[in-house]
Amino acid sequence: EEGLEKTKENVFGKLARAVAGKSTVDTQVLDDLEEVLITSDVGVETTVNIIERIEERVARDKYMGTAELQGILREEIAGLLEENQAGDGASFDLPEKKPYVIMVVGVNGVGKTTTIGKLAAQFKAAGKNVVLGAADTFRAAAVDQLVVWSERAGVPIVKQGMGSDPASVAFDTLQSAVSQNADVVLIDTAGRLHNKVNLMNELGKIKRVMQKVIPDAPHEVLLVLDASTGQNALNQAVEFSKVTEVSALALTKLDGTAKGGVVIGISDQLKVPVKYIGVGEKIEDLQVFDRKSFVDRFFS
Ligand code: GDP
Repeated sequence: EEGLEKTKENVFGKLARAVAGKSTVDTQVLDDLEEVLITSDVGVETTVNIIERIEERVARDKYMGTAELQGILREEIAGLLEENQAGDGASFDLPEKKPYVIMVVGVNGVGKTTTIGKLAAQFKAAGKNVVLGAADTFRAAAVDQLVVWSERAGVPIVKQGMGSDPASVAFDTLQSAVSQNADVVLIDTAGRLHNKVNLMNELGKIKRVMQKVIPDAPHEVLLVLDASTGQNALNQAVEFSKVTEVSALALTKLDGTAKGGVVIGISDQLKVPVKYIGVGEKIEDLQVFDRKSFVDRFFS
């Protein structure tokens, strides 16, 4: 129970406790800081990286006051996110050449369909022509759900029957997008990570078939992760990056519990930019990830 209480406490409070009654950052403070980061879902590897960077600063400057620690930690975390180009505050840049093809991957239940719907609505609001492709043909519900989102967002969808070849759906979608002179295509895919070889083959085939229509497609592979699952999201990110090349991340359900420390660990370990965050179930609840406001919130 005590462990639960600890994770509920915010980073600011945890840090304050770690440095209580101390004026300089010593080994004990660094140990406590390590615990603060790990209980905030930052992940062990990234936590160790951050602690090492702070240790180097202490060694170099021969002194660090506890009063400075929060500021220094902020700098290190912001620096880490910046290195990975996470949260540049920009949506996907749509180039002149179109359509821009975004293949969306992720395990079932993480919010993949919802994120596609929200993204479609944002692109449409920005005056772009969007086409959705329902290439998760494995679950009947997946296609139905995407149809619902296409109606909500007011954008066309290309689909076939359940059990049809996902690559064939992707092919049709791209052909349709080209003939409509669409700006952006969002392709939904199946997310059976427990069947890694199949998934790798399927995503590989979807890519190859899409390239028959648009040789450099997909332009982005967006991995959707559920941030509320903490270390599970991190593990999925690592596994998915073995199955396909991931170019951008969307982290959903950040409206829920935590302060999203997992965002830091995932961007550090994948070296892939976090582009979007989901902050609710409604169509408008998708934000372009902004590094600065994320760091502010993490420490508040
Ligand atoms: P998929 O199986 O990955 O396509 O997942 P869905 O898009 O169907 O989403 C699964 C559930 O998560 C649904 O109940 C969504 O409403 C919910 N969901 C998706 N994104 C968010 C989010 O950012 N915040 C919250 N609170 N719920 C979300």
